[in-house]
Amino acid sequence: MRVPDGVRETIRALRAAGHEAYPVGGCVRDLLLSEAGEDVAVHDWDVCTDATPEEMKTALAGHRTIDTGIRHGTITVLLPDGQYEVTTFRVDGTYSDGRHPDSVSFTASVGRDLARRDFTINAMALRLGADGEPAGIIDPFGGREDLERRRLRCVGDPRERFEEDALRILRALRFAGRLGLEIDPATRGAMLEKRALLQRISVERILDELGKILLTEHGWELLRQYPELLTEILPELRPCVGFAQRNPWHRFNVYDHLLFSVGSAPKDLTLRMTMLLHDVGKPAAASTDEAGIDHFYGHGELSAALAEQILRRLHSSNRLLGDVVELVRYHDAAVEPSARVLRRLLNRLGETQLRRLLAVKRADTAAQSQMARERKLPELERCEELLEQIVAERQAFTLRDLRINGRDLIERGVAPGPEIGRRLQRALDAVLDGTIENEREALLAAALADP
Ligand code: ATP
Ligand code: MG
Repeated sequence: MRVPDGVRETIRALRAAGHEAYPVGGCVRDLLLSEAGEDVAVHDWDVCTDATPEEMKTALAGHRTIDTGIRHGTITVLLPDGQYEVTTFRVDGTYSDGRHPDSVSFTASVGRDLARRDFTINAMALRLGADGEPAGIIDPFGGREDLERRRLRCVGDPRERFEEDALRILRALRFAGRLGLEIDPATRGAMLEKRALLQRISVERILDELGKILLTEHGWELLRQYPELLTEILPELRPCVGFAQRNPWHRFNVYDHLLFSVGSAPKDLTLRMTMLLHDVGKPAAASTDEAGIDHFYGHGELSAALAEQILRRLHSSNRLLGDVVELVRYHDAAVEPSARVLRRLLNRLGETQLRRLLAVKRADTAAQSQMARERKLPELERCEELLEQIVAERQAFTLRDLRINGRDLIERGVAPGPEIGRRLQRALDAVLDGTIENEREALLAAALADP
């Protein structure tokens, strides 16, 4: 891992004009991790400096810049190898709303800038030598040691830091989840104590951060460990916490099952959000038979309705909402390794969503009992193989894939109008059922036959 040329150039130019400048924050953390042999990529190289935006632009006059957030002291420099944000050392004013600092003021001290940051591992700056190579870190809060000891700790008093910005409670889960860190007891205590302040955070920031937590390696384990935090932002999940499933298919309560299934799914937002919500309607659907076995009839529909309510409340994109709600609705539908069933599902869901549905079923099964896994996984595997075959053979599964269209029927004397659609659908049904091939003669015969 090397400091990119654009960062070196930015810092060289600022220093040549008499300023201090350092890479800071996440890039320093990730650089230290990669030096320790971990497989992390540094994606954002942020630079901090004592120069004001005007002074930065003067020092960087030879390069193109964008005024990204002048009031907050940020400009972006465009260099051949990338874009880099440069921000004036800042001190945040008081946070009367727990969301935004009432004011920001610039400071000449890198130490004060580091002190406003959230966690010790994010509060380090990198000193570069004249040759542009790393020459030591500025680490006033012991971030390097915390990183080595795998510990997440707030800078300063954790309670105050979460009062300033409660989103940091979720950021703590994200960093602990990504890097496998233990949350320091004082920080953990303050996260739980201040959790109600999450209500003040905008739903957009909550959804964004939740998505990032879900995509980390260990985020699901943290969410499982902290139901108080997850249900603070998703109160619809409260009935799931500790809700037993006395049923041979299951080994976990509903809440734990949801999170184990998240951990079993590929790192994809649609899939992981689906897993988080797929059984949220189970407590409301539960019944117990005479033998003492629990059943959850209709929980797919109920869960889909709750998932929709949750994602609407969080102002999710329509795309994510539509895909997740559909997958939740179908997650428990019977999917057999039969070409007929799979073609029907392809017709209804489309290829992308059917592939996702199989992944959802895999993740769901992985978080169920041994018996469930033994019975369902081989069947899912056969579905996946069969789906590959159907797709590879380019078999028809929508009206558009048919090798005939409405004009063919009109030419053969069918009156234009709804009758055309009905007849094409009949031909498609025959293809989906496997009674005819997607070939013109057979399709025309099926479409033109009397019903
Ligand atoms: P990522 O790799 O996900 O980008 P990051 O550490 O770079 O992680 P960012 O959200 O990009 O995180 O923020 C950059 C830096 O700004 C952080 O490392 C941290 O020092 C500081 N920071 C960001 N958000 C906050 C916040 N809400 N409170 C305090 N400091 C913050
Ligand atoms: Mg970043």
